[in-house]
Amino acid sequence: MTATAPREGELWSRCAGCASLLYRKRLRRNLDVCPECGEHTRLAAPERLRQLVDPGSFTPLPDRPAEVDPIDFVDVLSYRHRLSAARAGTGLAEAVVCGTATIGHQRCALAVMDFRFLGGSLGAAVGELITLAAERALEDGVPLVLVTASGGARMQEGALSLMQMATVSQAVAALREAGLLTVSVLTDPTYGGVAASFATNTDVVLAETGARMGFAGPRVIRQVTGRALPEGFQTAAFLLRHGQVDMVVPRHALRGRLVALLAAARAGRRARSRPAVPRQEPAPAARPAAVATPRAVAAAAAPADAWQTVRLARHPGRPTTLDYLDSAFEGFVELHGDRLGGDCPAVVGGLARLDGRHLMVIGHQKGHTTGELVARNFGMASPAGHRKALRLMRLAARLGLPVVTLVDTPGADPGVGAEEQGQAAAIAENILSLSVLPTPVVAVITGEGGSGGALALAVADRVLMLQHAVYSVISPEGCAAILWPDRGAAPQAARALRLTAPDLCRLGVVDDLVAEPVPAAHHDPEAAARALREAVLANLLPLLDVPPATLVRRRRQRFRRFGAARAGLRAGAR
Ligand SMILES: [Zn+2]
Repeated sequence: MTATAPREGELWSRCAGCASLLYRKRLRRNLDVCPECGEHTRLAAPERLRQLVDPGSFTPLPDRPAEVDPIDFVDVLSYRHRLSAARAGTGLAEAVVCGTATIGHQRCALAVMDFRFLGGSLGAAVGELITLAAERALEDGVPLVLVTASGGARMQEGALSLMQMATVSQAVAALREAGLLTVSVLTDPTYGGVAASFATNTDVVLAETGARMGFAGPRVIRQVTGRALPEGFQTAAFLLRHGQVDMVVPRHALRGRLVALLAAARAGRRARSRPAVPRQEPAPAARPAAVATPRAVAAAAAPADAWQTVRLARHPGRPTTLDYLDSAFEGFVELHGDRLGGDCPAVVGGLARLDGRHLMVIGHQKGHTTGELVARNFGMASPAGHRKALRLMRLAARLGLPVVTLVDTPGADPGVGAEEQGQAAAIAENILSLSVLPTPVVAVITGEGGSGGALALAVADRVLMLQHAVYSVISPEGCAAILWPDRGAAPQAARALRLTAPDLCRLGVVDDLVAEPVPAAHHDPEAAARALREAVLANLLPLLDVPPATLVRRRRQRFRRFGAARAGLRAGAR
């Protein structure tokens, strides 16, 4: 908020953040962000549009809102009087401006709310206009971008304003069904009925720096609880930490982020509209793994002692998921949060490109230093991490983007909190959902493939494994402690568990072994990234033309085989 200093007139304004006196033209050039302290001034809808869309591309929706005062509401002033004053004060017909435009030459429909107009409140006309924008997006087959700023529902319209939450939400649902991207940009403030509907039920939720969002406002919460609120409550950083938003974006980067998101969505739409060519012969990707050719690869790989491999797989210098995202992939846009209350640092995911192809990448993140490892919980995902991964997998499938997972975890988080939040069910849901996910999935075990936590990201059409990675039902130490019973017997347990890549290729659990640079990935991370990239491409490309139903059927067959493991073992053993 910037209060205009009266004596300086229109030329100057005083920053609400740092009280600097700012030349208005300079402030505007800086997108109304204070150059001194970074305070993001609230924007009127027309100015917001000017900042976001390609110049001259905006076409307002032709529909005008009907005159409404559905319940003849009167407080100290009549609702009609307040409406007229808002119109005169803003030059707008309602608290939202809707239309179509291009952003980075990509078409979309937009609805931008304006807080100056009766606090951006959600009434029947606002609901109708946003719904029309969503319907226009559906008709044109383009994404919908919503920029929210609202105190909540418009009480002057009674329960009819409440109903707008459902009206707009079902329009968002129609876009979801059609696989069209919906993005909301939360700006300050976004509360109440808007927060609890289309501000947060979209595919991707961005929060502009300085935005606050919540269902109940701080004043109400203080009244109800009688307690002081924590520092930074409901701020963008708070929302990110609590899994409510995908990212916090400063105003100058907002347009660029939208361009990247729209580009990924467009790539998915194009891929989906490509006529699928059902193949006569099963694609190489679908060959039964029991007769997998990797036996040849496995035989060629130098036989290593299993315990030595375990130590290599755990080496702190080994490239992590973020390292691969930086080296083997391009243009990573990280998406955060499970939308339920957490953002697990042990799982990272988001949109990226591989050799120019848009996809979703999800992986466990460890770290190289003790500090990094602790901050990432050693790559052990919480239920929030599994739910974030699930959300991103489903988003990818809806948008028509393939999924690549990078697995590197000692196992799922075994803590008390994880149990309280349903760790078992979270893993279970991922395994089930991946088995029917209607988009290509390639999993790569890059380091440690530990137990159920690993499988939660590894039910895939193709499962690849780096040469010195391991994949196991239990850690060798854990196995030794139970069965020998002596933790010191871990090396023997490692050998007995058949957890190396060549062993797992023979068992058909893994389809392809990815050779590492000699002696191991951490000695030449760039070469390791190249090998991973080539292996993923070689395994992913044949899947892209397979119709989703066929893909899912083959994936289920792939894992169905393990129910008759004896036959698989015999076929693969020699
Ligand atoms: Zn300032």
